[in-house]
Amino acid sequence: MSLVQPYGKPDLFITMTCNVNWPEIKNELAVGEETQNRPDLVAKIFCAKLLALKKHIMEKQVFGDVAAIVYIVEFQKWGLPHAHMLIILKPAFKIKCPTHFDRFICAEIPTQDNPHLRKSILKHMMHGPCGHLNPRCPCMKHLKSKGSCKYVYPKQFRIETTNNGDGYPMYKRRYIGDSASIRKATLDNRWVIPYNPCLSSLFDCHLNVEVCSTIEAVKYLYKYVYKGHDKISFNVVHKGEVDTIDEIEHYQSGRCTKLFIRRIHRAHRWDLSSKEWVKRKNKVIVIGRLTFVAPTEGERYFLRLLLLNIRGPRSFEDLLTVYGCRCASFQEAAIKLRLLEEDDAIDKCLAKACEVQMPPAIRRLFSTVLIFCQPSEPNALFMLPS
Ligand SMILES: [Zn+2]
Repeated sequence: MSLVQPYGKPDLFITMTCNVNWPEIKNELAVGEETQNRPDLVAKIFCAKLLALKKHIMEKQVFGDVAAIVYIVEFQKWGLPHAHMLIILKPAFKIKCPTHFDRFICAEIPTQDNPHLRKSILKHMMHGPCGHLNPRCPCMKHLKSKGSCKYVYPKQFRIETTNNGDGYPMYKRRYIGDSASIRKATLDNRWVIPYNPCLSSLFDCHLNVEVCSTIEAVKYLYKYVYKGHDKISFNVVHKGEVDTIDEIEHYQSGRCTKLFIRRIHRAHRWDLSSKEWVKRKNKVIVIGRLTFVAPTEGERYFLRLLLLNIRGPRSFEDLLTVYGCRCASFQEAAIKLRLLEEDDAIDKCLAKACEVQMPPAIRRLFSTVLIFCQPSEPNALFMLPS
């Protein structure tokens, strides 16, 4: 949400999934070696491809001039990395109407005139088959889907792209008789996952591009991008039995992958002459924010309050030292600095929560504030600072 304030709502939502058959991966495998045994190689190549994708979007301006970009890399349960990316375009390049959508996004099988793109789309961008064609498809097993496809495939045939009113574009899917045999079923334009022809031709992988500028619920978009990990690793050991930790297995099951992925941020570079890591001098503006902390979290809340108000602290000691005296707690330091006077701190906390939290969490926080923070004028708390 820190990005939405200065740059506006995101325009495009992109999901890129690693293709284990990329020649860059296949060519590096030893004879008889399987891809799943080389998470280090898969992660490295995926990082390089993701950076190339970012370059095409930022520098080559596939969608126009970009104001801001945010992305996160995740791991599917079987280990393949994928990335979610939100793109905010500059005002002159905003994607607003169906004509603009058609310029960048396609949801039809490419014609035989473009065999390279057609091959890539049929390989990576056809959903299913699911529904009655394949009731066992993973998209059918979702609790909320109640026996139908979680992603609502097959879509309807449609002669032109439209906005359906709830913010989600309905892409053009013409009934032109073109179909292909995919995973033992005949699939047509109703099964195509929306893609950008230029990027799909270049990257040969699952690369879903969707317009999201028309979606009002911006918070839900960010929640999707930042939904976090859905995988946990644990062992059940009998009482008295010693748990043997296989470090190599741990390394291979993803830890090393995460290490490589971290390099994406590329805040530093290796200087060959001085033989040391130096900070990059790029012109990219990085926007950060302190994680939201509720007042009920005690010292963490007061620490955040100090960090927001004290410029350039060098250590916790710095934060605890007020007017030359060392305080026993962050709370004491905040009180001495008069950061808790009046309802200002509560107002700011509620305003921040409105920016970053989902509605149920905001309601919980508001009741917590009323019960535990003793605001002097509870009614005035409804008048949140704009
Ligand atoms: Zn489905």
